[in-house]
Amino acid sequence: MGSLTISFIIPSYNEAENVQNVLKAIESEMLIQHYEYEVVFVDDGSKDGTVEAIQDLAFCYPEVKYVSFSRNFGKEAALLAGLRHSQGDAVIMMDADLQHPASMISKLLKGYEEGYDQVIAKRNRKGDSLIRSFISFAFYRLINKAVDVELSDGEGDFRLLSRKAVDALLVLSEGNRFSKGLYSWIGLEKKVISYENVAREKGETKWSFAKLINYGIDGVVSFNHKPLRACFYIGAFVLILSLLYIIITFTEILQNGIAVPGYFTTISAVLFLGGVQLVCLGIIGEYIGRIYYETKKRPHYIIGKTNIETAAEKRDKH
Ligand code: UDP
Ligand code: MG
Repeated sequence: MGSLTISFIIPSYNEAENVQNVLKAIESEMLIQHYEYEVVFVDDGSKDGTVEAIQDLAFCYPEVKYVSFSRNFGKEAALLAGLRHSQGDAVIMMDADLQHPASMISKLLKGYEEGYDQVIAKRNRKGDSLIRSFISFAFYRLINKAVDVELSDGEGDFRLLSRKAVDALLVLSEGNRFSKGLYSWIGLEKKVISYENVAREKGETKWSFAKLINYGIDGVVSFNHKPLRACFYIGAFVLILSLLYIIITFTEILQNGIAVPGYFTTISAVLFLGGVQLVCLGIIGEYIGRIYYETKKRPHYIIGKTNIETAAEKRDKH
């Protein structure tokens, strides 16, 4: 057991005041474990001296590795970089802000020892505002109807993944990554353990309401084309209704001649159909936009600094 390595992946964006604490928390948990470990910090283009803080840590602790992005690329990109650069037999992904309690580490590792490929630390919504809890509840009800993979509230990025699960995730190379969906898509044996929600201690959350909405749209659009199908059904339904309406009005005209100039009906039909068409165009646009980004095949991130040798660099040395 002693030779197994655990990699911790810590995405960090403007977390200068947190990185040392999260490292300490991990250190003290790992003291009682038999595993070797590395802590991979991914600096996501922070502007508050996070890189310098991490570099200081790397100088003092050999187990600290880091990758620093050239600018902010988002948490998804940071997690991907962490997965690509970690070498452990299993990885544990944790937020830098100590909202993912280190005390769960031993439970995650226990799940790993029991043979699970994904051990998920699931949080409850204690301490969240009522509105935010309700929106999340509604979001998950809705999204589970809309997408093919199963997503559940509170199951986020705080989890342990075996090497097998990491490799499976790394094969999925889509540009627009919605990790919650990807974890579920790869399947494999999973175990869920719960923890109490903790409030953020320092710094502030990077999620605005607009970001959450965009995240929801990403979730639906990344995982299937049901919205496009819905457009087709709505279109067909409206078309049949209009045909019926035209037939009825036309027969009336044949029988009685033109009675009233139909201003109201004309305007309502134009507005309604215009609305339906715009919504459908928007949905189609979402997909086309995604195709546009995918065809560019841009990398998910650009690395500015790192202390991790790539395989090619290692080869050159020998
Ligand atoms: N994060 C990141 N890049 C970003 C935004 C966030 O790497 O663009 C990191 C952040 O440093 C933290 C984690 O992702 O470690 C979760 O972010 P945050 O605490 O803001 O989200 P919340 O806990 O409110 O969901
Ligand atoms: Mg947080």
